[in-house]
Amino acid sequence: MAGHGQRERRLAAVQQHLTPSVAATRTGAGHGSSSGSSAVATTIVDVRAAPASADGRPASDWGGIQGLGQICVAVETADGRIGFGVGGGGQPGLDVIALALRPLLVGRDRADVEALWEAMYKHTLAYGRKGLTIMAISGVDLALWDLRAKAAGVSVAELLGASTAALSQPVPSYRTAPNDLAAAVAEGYTKVKLSIGGMDVVTQPDEIIATVQRAREELGGDVELMIDATMKWSDREAVLRLCERLARLDLAVAYLEEPLPSDDLEGYAWLTSRSPIPIAGGEHEQTAAGFAELMGARNRTLLCLRQQLFVVS
Ligand SMILES: [Mg+2]
Repeated sequence: MAGHGQRERRLAAVQQHLTPSVAATRTGAGHGSSSGSSAVATTIVDVRAAPASADGRPASDWGGIQGLGQICVAVETADGRIGFGVGGGGQPGLDVIALALRPLLVGRDRADVEALWEAMYKHTLAYGRKGLTIMAISGVDLALWDLRAKAAGVSVAELLGASTAALSQPVPSYRTAPNDLAAAVAEGYTKVKLSIGGMDVVTQPDEIIATVQRAREELGGDVELMIDATMKWSDREAVLRLCERLARLDLAVAYLEEPLPSDDLEGYAWLTSRSPIPIAGGEHEQTAAGFAELMGARNRTLLCLRQQLFVVS
């Protein structure tokens, strides 16, 4: 498969970026070294981050439209163990890790992952709280969890309590396909999501309806169809009118995702209590506190955590 070789090359290039730097080795923070006489096996000696792309530049899987680019993170401990994580924030995310998080973590014990997250969050509060700083922290946090699981000799999923039976189950997935619906179905997907946020809900409702109608015709009745506005709209009444039209046309839209900006909690509460089509949100919400607020405000909203949906009631 052509894409496989490309993926391998990309992984190799990213791994190269994550190998210990000459500077880190020279300062005693490299592979297998300790950061001082007090260092124990679980002392963090280095935190490295690199763009998740073969050419070393931050890149987005979404064509650079809305993302600064994914990043890979490696956290190394004095015993030479390395945990890996994936985060976001592109070049600014790399800067947050290099300039703020690495100096904070080197010399600390990796074992108390939860306390380290709190430390990173507090350390970056002046400019962080949400957005790319949390995406950068997430990469480090995942690497710390990877270290914890490796030390325990299990996968992170098992560490979190997943059973062997649960891990052997297939994970439902869908394809976000703006243009190639037939290709997605040919590949075996039974769920497809349509990006419609590029059309304005106030001035182009007819175009949106026509696009969803075409998609339904192309997909047939057996494929689940979801639509995603990616926070692009702000007129809740126009969104409601759109949902009512879609429902009347009986296009079997499973849900409309993120029609409003993430922070418009009141708008989501208003919309979800009226829309005949389920409203999904939360993809761009962050931190436990953010989700607590979301769940308090959006009764009946579906929480969309990547590919898993949770109904909030
Ligand atoms: Mg989305």
